Parts: sequence; C-alpha cells; structure tokens
Amino acid sequence: MTEQPDQVTVTLALSPRWVTLLAVLSEDGHGPVETVIYQLIDHAQQGVYRPGSWERGWLTQAFGYDWQSRLEPDTDDTTADGRVVFQRPVRPCPNDPPCPHPRSTHVHDAIGWYCTGFDGEGENEGCACGAIPDGSDPGEDDDDG
Ligand SMILES: [Zn+2]
Ligand SMILES: [Zn+2]
Repeated sequence: MTEQPDQVTVTLALSPRWVTLLAVLSEDGHGPVETVIYQLIDHAQQGVYRPGSWERGWLTQAFGYDWQSRLEPDTDDTTADGRVVFQRPVRPCPNDPPCPHPRSTHVHDAIGWYCTGFDGEGENEGCACGAIPDGSDPGEDDDDG
C-alpha cells in the first residue's frame, strides 16, 4: 500500500481492543490491521458504486436504504457496449445559487446551465435554476468518476 500522490490519507484512532479484534481477520491473525481495514473499505466503496454487488446488501444492513437516494446513474463509466451499470454520488447543481435537483436534470447550452426540474419520476415541477445566464461553463467533467 504505497501511497500515491493523488491519494487521501485518513487517520483513525482505534482502541487496542478493536485492533486486536480486527487483526483476527488478517491472514495469520496478528495483522497488520491496516490491511484488514483497507480490505473492508475496498468492499464498502464497491457496494456504493455497484448496485448488483453483494457489498450493496451488506451496506444496506449496516447503513439502511436512505443513502442510496444520494446516488445517480454513472453515465461516464459504462460497459463496453454502452450500458449504464454503475452509480456515482449525485453531483450538485452547477448554478449559483444551487437548486435542489440532481445534476443529471441539468442541461448546458450556449447561455449556461439550466435545470429541467424533471428526473424522470413523478411530476415535472419546473425549475427557475439557471434562469440568470452566467455565460460560463462550470465544468462538466471536473470529477474523477
Ligand atoms: Zn439547478
Ligand atoms: Zn432545478
């Protein structure tokens, strides 16, 4: 686990009891516990972006269902034949001030971003978001996927 320049370091303070318990999950039962925690986190992040994974059910047992409303289809990470199978965190409205609708309901034209106010479910309530032209492109592809 050599740290790369684009990685985020997370520091955890754990009780000795937790470390002893988690170390049991390592190959020889004595650690290093960092390897165990890294593997747990790897499974967790897979459960977030892969709806069909066994980890999704695991996360649902631990965290419930509500967090899944904070995901949207990942249209940037598709299969070889173009199918959308993964999810990503809902990206915020690119306008200032932001509206409550997900980024996926927003369309960019020559004037700027505007919101259709419709995510494909229920009524289209409309949205005034983006009515004030800003003339700038906030950047469609500024996330790392
Ligand atoms: Zn908006
Ligand atoms: Zn909106």
